[in-house]
Formats: sequence, C-alpha cells, structure tokens
Amino acid sequence: MGGANAIAPAPGPERTCVGCSQRRPQAELVRFSGGPGGLRVHLERGDGRGVYLCPDTGCLEVSVKRKALQRAFGAELGQLSVQELRESIRQAVLQKVQRLLGLARRAKKVVAGSRAVRQALEAGRVRLVLLRRDIFPGVGKQIQEEAERRGIPVMMVLSREDLEAVLGGPSREAVGLLDSSFAEGILRALRYWIPVGNGAPPGRQEEERRTGGGDRG
Ligand SMILES: [Zn+2]
Repeated sequence: MGGANAIAPAPGPERTCVGCSQRRPQAELVRFSGGPGGLRVHLERGDGRGVYLCPDTGCLEVSVKRKALQRAFGAELGQLSVQELRESIRQAVLQKVQRLLGLARRAKKVVAGSRAVRQALEAGRVRLVLLRRDIFPGVGKQIQEEAERRGIPVMMVLSREDLEAVLGGPSREAVGLLDSSFAEGILRALRYWIPVGNGAPPGRQEEERRTGGGDRG
C-alpha cells in the first residue's frame, strides 16, 4: 500500500483549494467546472475556469458548507452533498483507470487473477498490482509481500463492482500491470480516490459471501 506516494510531485502551477484555503500544486487538486451540462470533474491539468479542491472529505465538506461550487457556477447546481461530490470524483477516477486498463489490455500488458499475478511478479514483469478490496486475506498477503520485496506498488482500493466495471467483465482478485507508463497513469488517477470510511479491512459478512471463486485455482 501507499504506492501512490512513490510518484514524484509533478511540477507546475499552484492553485488554492476552496476547502482548506491552502495553495497546492494544481496536479494534486481536483478541478470542478460547471456549465449548462452540470458539474464536471477534471483529474488532468487543464485550462479553464474551475474550483479546486483537495481530494479529501474534509475539503469537500467545507466547499459544500460554503456553497463554493454554486457561487462559482450558478445556483442552478442546486443542493450538493459531500456524498455526491465524492461519487463524482470516484466516477472520474474509475473512468480513467478503465480507459488505461483497456489500453493496457490491448497492448497485452495486463495479467489478471491472483495466480497469474504472482507468477508475473516472480518473473519480475509486474509494475503495479491492483488487489480487490475483498481479496482472500491469505492470498492478498502473499501477493503484497512478493510485491513489497520487489518494490512494486500495490493498491487495494477497488471493490468487486469497481473491478468489474474497469475490466468490463467478471472481476478478478488481483490485476497486474506489466508496463510502467500504464502503471504510473493508473497510480496517478488512484491518488484522487477518496476512501469511504476508514479503509478498514472487509467485514465478516463480506468474507463469508466469498465463494472461493475461480481466480485462485
Ligand atoms: Zn484542501
């Protein structure tokens, strides 16, 4: 875990977060823009008017309290909730990860399934590991330890549903990226992920629901 921190800070202009009022590199902030089509989320640096926020629940809360987005883009945005803002950021992150994973798959730079990921790790081919949040702890730990030994970042933020969405098919417990630029792009997008709750390990019922499906066998 904590792989996202391994990325060097991107140089570039600074912007002020309307939540905490801190000036930070634009590349670390989420930009919201608004217009007739409603609110939009931008994870990439770009031009245009925007409201900047740290990808952080606290800053989203302040922006909702101050109606910062309505003041910038018009009252027709209506009531916004922290939940909605967080969900729109999450969707933007998922879309970006989905796009990059799609490209990586076409380039044959993805392995899926915990066994395939472990083999590729042992062969020194993996640049990033994505573990499903509800991966069987024993299997997850083995992969994580192997990745750590090799200095490969591991991200464990995506749920079963998220992984189904990004893989466009049945979700796998583990996905390995075999190319560093795809890996870096995905890490950069996941840096905007705002964990719900405290990121605690999956609950008992989630483990019991598991069927020990085909990924591992
Ligand atoms: Zn902030």
